[in-house]
Amino acid sequence: MTEVVDVTIIGGGPTGLFATFYAGMREMSVTLIDSLPQLGGQLNELYPDKYIYDVGGFPKVLAKDLVDSLVEQAEFAKPSIHLEETVLSYEKKDDHFVLKTNKGEHLTKTILITAGIGAFQPRKLGVENEETFEGTSLHYSVPDLQKFKGERVLVCGGGDSAVDWALMLEEVAEEVTLVHRRDKFRAHETSVNQLMESSVQVKTSRQVKEIHGKDGRVEAVTVAQRGGEDERFDLDHVIVNYGNVSSLGPLKEWGFEMDRQSIIVDRHMETSIPGIFAAGDVASYDGKVKLIAVGLGEAPVAISHIKSAIDPKARVQPKHSTSVFKQEEA
Ligand SMILES: Cc1cc2nc3c(=O)[nH]c(=O)nc-3n(C[C@H](O)[C@H](O)[C@H](O)COP(=O)(O)OP(=O)(O)OC[C@H]3O[C@@H](n4cnc5c(N)ncnc54)[C@H](O)[C@@H]3O)c2cc1C
Repeated sequence: MTEVVDVTIIGGGPTGLFATFYAGMREMSVTLIDSLPQLGGQLNELYPDKYIYDVGGFPKVLAKDLVDSLVEQAEFAKPSIHLEETVLSYEKKDDHFVLKTNKGEHLTKTILITAGIGAFQPRKLGVENEETFEGTSLHYSVPDLQKFKGERVLVCGGGDSAVDWALMLEEVAEEVTLVHRRDKFRAHETSVNQLMESSVQVKTSRQVKEIHGKDGRVEAVTVAQRGGEDERFDLDHVIVNYGNVSSLGPLKEWGFEMDRQSIIVDRHMETSIPGIFAAGDVASYDGKVKLIAVGLGEAPVAISHIKSAIDPKARVQPKHSTSVFKQEEA
């Protein structure tokens, strides 16, 4: 039978990661779920190489380095981590919740939502029947380059990832074409210069209009050209890199008291549904400020109240960390 954990945290951004650590500090068992393939929330997904200057104790820190430290700290709690898994709904049983995801179920005494601005989904091409090719020959990321060995690949997009992928694929694929909607690239100048000197066929001011294929496999695409004739390319794979869209999606249907895209919480960080708490960007109350530093502060508040909710004898006020770590080291 699946174990009922003390708390399940939905969202592995900075708030969820620090809450995971804190659950360990308060001797709770913890599950952490995120819909992305990696931890770090907005920091790793939207701006890994940007500096952050307003987190206490770090005069200047790269977003991805802050995430690495938070992940290292969170490991103390020995969490059960589930990536590429999106939480959809919940059911309340007598003394626990059953959380339903796109991959299965998790049993938990309490829930902490640290879902930020919501689950990220890749922005689609927007052509007819695209979903029939998804997972086989229409992709939104490149987890394994070798899959494209000797294949003809079309990359769509003009940002850093699209250009980097085209250059990486050039090494293994038989043929790489890059189609970009605009005539200028958003990617770094050095990468664009490298692209222009590479064997990648670069087609700007163009957009995929139609995908042709059968049995779920792409065979060709028709590309519309601004002010020109449509072109058709025979190929094996299309990789789309148009960025992400985020949405609270199914969580909005849970029946919380909401303030637009945020979930209203009380001073314990508890939502209007007993046993379900929220913290970080997703949580709202009078005077709320959305910042990493604020989420890092709300995480221990939420976890400490969760602790006393599941164990009424436990004090809300945590012990100092030194006493916990001294016990660990003894
Ligand atoms: C370009 C940019 C620059 C920024 N710079 C700064 C800065 O300098 N300083 C600062 O303080 N703040 C900055 N911010 C804001 C900061 O990134 C956010 O305040 C912070 O990420 C909030 O953290 P969080 O953990 O609450 O949520 P998020 O980082 O949004 O993480 C939420 C996680 O929840 C996951 N999730 C959502 N729904 C589900 C679901 N149903 N199932 C499973 N997983 C789900 C998402 O995949 C995501 O990983 C910046 C934001 C942007 C976009």
